[in-house]
Amino acid sequence: MTLNADLHCHSVVSDGTLSPEQLAARAAGNGVELWSLTDHDELGGQERARTAAQANGLRYLTGCEISVTYLDRTVHIVGLGFDADDDTIRQGLRATRGGRELRAREMAEQLAKVGIHGAYDGALRYVGNPELISRTHFARFLVESGVCRDTGEVFRRYLTEGKPGFVPHRWATLKDAVTWITRAGGQAVIAHPARYGFSANEEFALFTDFKGHGGGAVEVVTGSHSAADAERYADAAREWGLAASRGSDFHSPDESHTDLGRLPDLPRDLRPVWDLLADRIQ
Ligand code: AMP
Ligand code: MN
Ligand code: MN
Ligand code: MN
Repeated sequence: MTLNADLHCHSVVSDGTLSPEQLAARAAGNGVELWSLTDHDELGGQERARTAAQANGLRYLTGCEISVTYLDRTVHIVGLGFDADDDTIRQGLRATRGGRELRAREMAEQLAKVGIHGAYDGALRYVGNPELISRTHFARFLVESGVCRDTGEVFRRYLTEGKPGFVPHRWATLKDAVTWITRAGGQAVIAHPARYGFSANEEFALFTDFKGHGGGAVEVVTGSHSAADAERYADAAREWGLAASRGSDFHSPDESHTDLGRLPDLPRDLRPVWDLLADRIQ
């Protein structure tokens, strides 16, 4: 039995529905041994998560999931084991969060044009952190108000490229995200690579640039990966000489199919990212 590590999930500090304390207790209950809370673009939950991890007998790595724009698409880079007090990453994440408010207002305006009114205030009711209004909060409002059956349908019909509530946004650069993380002593991880829909050439460019900037790992086993996706990115880890990460990407008991720690093991021949972070585990 290998270590039960879950190095990707979200709390109310970004777009999850549980508090850091509730997540730590749930992770411990599910047999997680090494945990990281990786809220989007935000470190506001780190201290609570670390304290709650220790209270629940979990080992902890600092974490976040940084929104990046690469080749005109949004890519997520998970950072693990960095110094959460590092000024450069804190400042960079603050700037990354900065455009969310305006984007949300534009999303609401577009939704109003297709007859969905009050979406800004509606989404705001689900927001735990005023600096972090996200598409997920709009999705919860559209489900609650009966426009869609579930959040998946909201994203398909309204919140993705080409749909009426989608507002293109420029996030951090890949280079900035990777260097913020690595210069603060952490490891950068390409999150859920199967989700981006890149062509083979674009994906090659992503991995090349990621490695070139100092990125060290790729998420192989994660909530949105099928068994075939995991095999494919296990191969990518081998080919690119990257370590492998494992994380549920848990957001909510009502929405997430994969619960904390309830994931397949990483293939045994891969180097787990936490091996590279042994001295950063708290
Ligand atoms: P944002 O950072 O505001 O662009 O929101 C991105 C978040 O939306 C992701 O972190 C997911 O939590 C959620 N999300 C993205 N695509 C989907 C989808 N197809 N179904 C459900 N949630 C999604
Ligand atoms: Mn999310
Ligand atoms: Mn993500
Ligand atoms: Mn995530």
